Amino acid sequence: MDCIFCKIAAKEIPSKIVFENERIVAFEDINPQAPVHILIIPKKHIPYIAEIKEENISLVGELIFTAKKIAEEKGLTKDGFRLVFNNGKNAGQEVFHIHLHLLGGRKFGWPPG
Ligand code: 5GP
Ligand code: ZN
Repeated sequence: MDCIFCKIAAKEIPSKIVFENERIVAFEDINPQAPVHILIIPKKHIPYIAEIKEENISLVGELIFTAKKIAEEKGLTKDGFRLVFNNGKNAGQEVFHIHLHLLGGRKFGWPPG
């Protein structure tokens, strides 16, 4: 399958991995939008959040729990951080393998642009 994040999970494409277990990989975003910008992905290929099923509930929960642990390690808990899933065209999703953005180290605007 020609999916860049499947290739990152399989180490066919290099990335700066910050966490990995049997189900999940977290790595630094190649084009960071904040001092800390990490992507947390399942190793399993799921293209859109809109396509997750009940059987994926614990996997998606683990993405969020992993983001929280990395945020703690990076010292982001006190000042805050943002977690984002972009889904589809209007949200600007560019890579069609679900990924949770962990962003921190600066103040973010709301509502998002
Ligand atoms: P999306 O817009 O789909 O939510 O976000 C895709 C993210 O993946 C972007 O922030 C982009 O910088 C990042 N990205 C795209 N290709 C690569 C890559 O090859 N390596 C890494 N580390 N990040 C990538
Ligand atoms: Zn994939």
